[in-house]
Amino acid sequence: MPVEFKTETPCPSCGKDLYFIFYRTTISYENAIEIETYFCKNCLYKSTRTIPLDLLEEKKISFLVSKRDDLRTILYRSQEARLELPEFGITIDPGENSQGSITTVEGVLQDILDKLDLFVTPDDEYEKLDLLRGTIKGILAGDNHAFTIIVDDPLGKSKIASSRAVEEKHP
Ligand SMILES: [Zn+2]
Repeated sequence: MPVEFKTETPCPSCGKDLYFIFYRTTISYENAIEIETYFCKNCLYKSTRTIPLDLLEEKKISFLVSKRDDLRTILYRSQEARLELPEFGITIDPGENSQGSITTVEGVLQDILDKLDLFVTPDDEYEKLDLLRGTIKGILAGDNHAFTIIVDDPLGKSKIASSRAVEEKHP
């Protein structure tokens, strides 16, 4: 299934935001490749590149969520990516049958809240988790509270659709 989302990259032809689409396929000789396309829905500008899967590189993306609008930033998490929110001491490992997912920063926070509710916590942890729950609820309700989201992806396929997201390749 192709994955598609809107980026903050302007179309070189008309200036509207480009859409990013990619999918994995197999061509001759059974080489798996990824096909990445930037597509403008306004003027139909299109730019495509193909990447052999064995050339994909591990990548780490950091994004400082510092203003309310950042909650709407789109995040694509590939099937092997791990999420970290270091200020909250949270790490979310990829699910076993994960297909990857497209969400927003807000969606990630909501997901954490849902998971926190499922935790059975020992009494000494309860206060800490309750504090965390309060902080996250506050952010969702509009509190100004900066925090970092890190996507660590061995496939290097994940993306955070913000010009302020910082990507680094692993050495
Ligand atoms: Zn265009």
